[in-house]
Amino acid sequence: MASGQRMAIVTGAGRGIGRAIALRLAQDGMNVVINDVNLGTAESVVNEIRELGRESFAVKADVSNRREVFEMVNQVVERFGQLDVMVSNAGIAQIKPLLEVTQEDLEQIFNINVNGVLFCLQAAAEQMKKQEGGGKIISAASIASYKGFSLLGTYSATKFAVRGITQAAAQELAQFGITVNAYCPGIVGTQMWDLIDEKMGPYMNLPKGETFKKFTDSITLGRSETPEDVAKFVSYLASPDSDYMTGQSIMIDGGVIFS
Ligand code: NAD
Repeated sequence: MASGQRMAIVTGAGRGIGRAIALRLAQDGMNVVINDVNLGTAESVVNEIRELGRESFAVKADVSNRREVFEMVNQVVERFGQLDVMVSNAGIAQIKPLLEVTQEDLEQIFNINVNGVLFCLQAAAEQMKKQEGGGKIISAASIASYKGFSLLGTYSATKFAVRGITQAAAQELAQFGITVNAYCPGIVGTQMWDLIDEKMGPYMNLPKGETFKKFTDSITLGRSETPEDVAKFVSYLASPDSDYMTGQSIMIDGGVIFS
């Protein structure tokens, strides 16, 4: 790693899993830049990180815009001199039968969930190569990276793609000391699941809250996942303890999928 305090960017960190990851990395001793399309939520997480005694600032950027992603990394390097960890967490869900998916739907979800992950990987790797000290690139995959879920077909396709990018990038970037891994959460109680519950319910004839409950009932450990459950694992992926792991998309789901 480059000299000085380790530095991370977490995308989509204004709320949910990204926020929990950012706070956890700060607790682990890192300075953390908070990216989101929503500047207001990003800034509130920046305040939480500063209260932990770490440095932070917010960058409003859309991960599906390659130029904005590269500018974000440049801004971080100008202010902090280095980038050691990139967590490509930003993502969206889409609930629709595949037969109803439009070209616009496909473009929107692939632009964010796949192109966004690749742009963050490109921008981070370019900087990490210059530093000559390696680095860690970590992306949000899902249990839907291993199993295509009904009514989440496009979402599942994007998360399978994240696994593919992770495997290929690990092989291309190993020569620079950069590891590339992904985390696969299960059923996490965030606003993303509020949306899935609301939109999926009518297709399944289930009232509000019952779709989340039905999915939660399938979890071996018997409870839904918290953003902190995910953050604990990402903490490991961001730490030197995971130095011998690369190209992996690992389930952290309480036992939903057994791969
Ligand atoms: P969330 O919807 O609660 O939060 C996502 C955040 O990303 C929001 O703050 C949003 O403003 C931001 N965002 C959206 N589009 C963006 C863009 N183009 N550029 C920058 N920021 C953007 O979602 P979450 O549940 O916290 O999920 C985080 C990640 O974890 C996603 O990639 C998601 O697919 C993945 N995941 C979530 C679950 C779950 O159960 N919630 C399960 C598996 C995987």
